[in-house]
Amino acid sequence: MLADPFVKVVMKMSYCGTLMRLEPNHSQHTAMPASVLIVEDEPEIRELLEFTLSRAGYEVIPAATAESAVSILQNGQGVPDLAILDWMLPGQSGVELARRLRRDPDTQHLPTLMLTARGEEADKLKSFESGVDDYVTKPFSPRELVARVKALLRRTGIPEDSILVMQGIRLDLNSHRITIDGDAVHIGPTEFRLLELLMRHPDRAFDRSTLLDRVWGRSVYVEERTVDVHVLRLRKILARHKLDHLIQTVRGIGYRFAAGT
Ligand code: CA
Repeated sequence: MLADPFVKVVMKMSYCGTLMRLEPNHSQHTAMPASVLIVEDEPEIRELLEFTLSRAGYEVIPAATAESAVSILQNGQGVPDLAILDWMLPGQSGVELARRLRRDPDTQHLPTLMLTARGEEADKLKSFESGVDDYVTKPFSPRELVARVKALLRRTGIPEDSILVMQGIRLDLNSHRITIDGDAVHIGPTEFRLLELLMRHPDRAFDRSTLLDRVWGRSVYVEERTVDVHVLRLRKILARHKLDHLIQTVRGIGYRFAAGT
């Protein structure tokens, strides 16, 4: 449960100004929520962050330590769209984690936002040297935090109204149309979202439960083998253009989009 002071903060907040990327029932082509990794050891603040960001339409991946964040990233769950790192963590610090993320080719472009209780200029500079993109000083207002997350995603992420092109496959994320080598292709909404997620993170292996969360949503109960059914359909669509090999099975994990082949 949230501690009282945080509940009050949350209750006082109005969320009308926040980003709503996930709009249930808006259409069958629901926009995919951006995912945010939160690394914060204090449970009350972690829960406040989870609550605030979920309400703003983000998918939240919580971790209490740098070590558990690294194991989440290494377990085939894919790279999130943004990371919020607390500076003071037990074990590896937020700054050390930020440096580690920058060194790893998989996460070197991951936008990171540092939470710090310190306001000193020297510390801020140090956090920018570690490759942190922005910082927020505690105590923070949930509204400001969401605004900063939104701004950072806009600055660094793939714009929502964009077009993804890879290997001759062109996904128009506005109209949800797909063409392959210039030919219009008929595709179901689930296959479209599945392909979009895989193409946004080329060469990244996703396990089935992550695919279920990010393509179907956590509120929907479907069995993991449903993923295989839709991957099969997606491969059939791509096979007509001899591109089915791009959706690779990763043994013991799940699937990935092979960008380099
Ligand atoms: Ca802390």
